[in-house]
Amino acid sequence: MAELTGVVILGSTGSIGVSTLDVIARNPERYRVVALTAHRQVERMAEQCLRFRPRYAVMGDDGAAEQLRQRLQGEGIEVLSGVSGLEYVASHPECDQVMAAIVGAAGLPPTLAAARAGKRILLANKEALVMTGQLFMDVVERHQAELLPIDSEHNAIFQSLPDSFNGRLDTIGVSRILLTASGGPFRDTPLEQLATVTPEQAVAHPNWSMGRKISVDSASMMNKGLELIEACWLFHTRPENVQVVIHPQSVIHSLVQYIDGSVIAELGNPDMRTPIAHAMAWPERIVSGVADLDLFQVARLDFTPPDETRFPCLRLAREAMQSGGRMPALLNAANEVAVAAFLDGRVRFTSIPAIIEESLGRLGGGPAESLEQVFIADQEARRLASELVATGSF
Ligand code: NAD
Ligand code: MG
Repeated sequence: MAELTGVVILGSTGSIGVSTLDVIARNPERYRVVALTAHRQVERMAEQCLRFRPRYAVMGDDGAAEQLRQRLQGEGIEVLSGVSGLEYVASHPECDQVMAAIVGAAGLPPTLAAARAGKRILLANKEALVMTGQLFMDVVERHQAELLPIDSEHNAIFQSLPDSFNGRLDTIGVSRILLTASGGPFRDTPLEQLATVTPEQAVAHPNWSMGRKISVDSASMMNKGLELIEACWLFHTRPENVQVVIHPQSVIHSLVQYIDGSVIAELGNPDMRTPIAHAMAWPERIVSGVADLDLFQVARLDFTPPDETRFPCLRLAREAMQSGGRMPALLNAANEVAVAAFLDGRVRFTSIPAIIEESLGRLGGGPAESLEQVFIADQEARRLASELVATGSF
């Protein structure tokens, strides 16, 4: 029998983590779980550990790690904690692939550790790449890591590019990338009502079931903004070459336009197990548990351009990428603070872009040539955005 591929899941208790475990359970002859990691969800983590028997379990939070240690006593699973624990398992020799599925900037250190150790990285944690951009891509290249996109749009673009893609879209006849977006739950909500929508309405996505932060990002379309930046780095292109297309059915997961008029797309039911299975097995294919697409049931596909009056976050992200340097890191950090405040009921939904725009305007650009500069930018934007939330005027 061929050796099993060792998988480490960063963020195993989250939406992507659970879907990854589901794909692994369907393919036990190929994969074994080396480590599972989470922040504070001890019960869910204990259940996952008892079912998948990893060698390590890591809790970001020290107190949660202690609880898990007691819960798993005598099971032969080593419980670690904190960033050092996350970095340790992400770079462990028994690990072949790292599913990077921690939400937000917290996912950056272990994802970077995986890149430095030359692992195959299954990248769901787009915030890590948005923050660090070229620095992250350089680490991947220097250590010959393999970076495969899990974000459904980027995975679709990857699948629509030829195997000969070597980082230069212009040499393979690509004229632009078409990034699809569902438009989220507020696509048709009257503009004047957006100020009073609730967190519960914002996280109720029409097509995808996801964690709370990315669900709010989808509702504000900051998710598409972050994805625009992510696409620029992954496919070595500029924001001008990426067109966002609102496609409410979420059946086409993104498209690539070629200079001869051809457009190649990847279609399927909106279920993250497809891109997860694709990236885990690439260049082979494995079952994912996702049902075949029923085109007769889908019946029609619609497309409209995005409305940036309704969704200022998309414009803010594009401008941040065009400005470059530390701007995307500032954007990401201010967004994380504003979204957390919205989910806590401290600011309105429409305050999210307002807080980000104010933060970017006050802090201004600057270089992001070292990780230290990125971390400083991240901290500055978090501090300022938190102050803006605390003023109560947003
Ligand atoms: P989620 O909130 O459901 O799960 C997040 C996971 O990260 C949990 O396991 C949590 O315990 C862990 N975590 C959070 N903070 C942590 C910390 N400080 N230290 C250690 N672990 C921590 O989120 P999700 O929806 O699964 O999304 C995860 C990532 O994948 C995000 O970056 C998101 O943008 C991206 N993504 C998600 C989807 C989706 O369908 N859910 C699609 C594309 C991309
Ligand atoms: Mg996506």
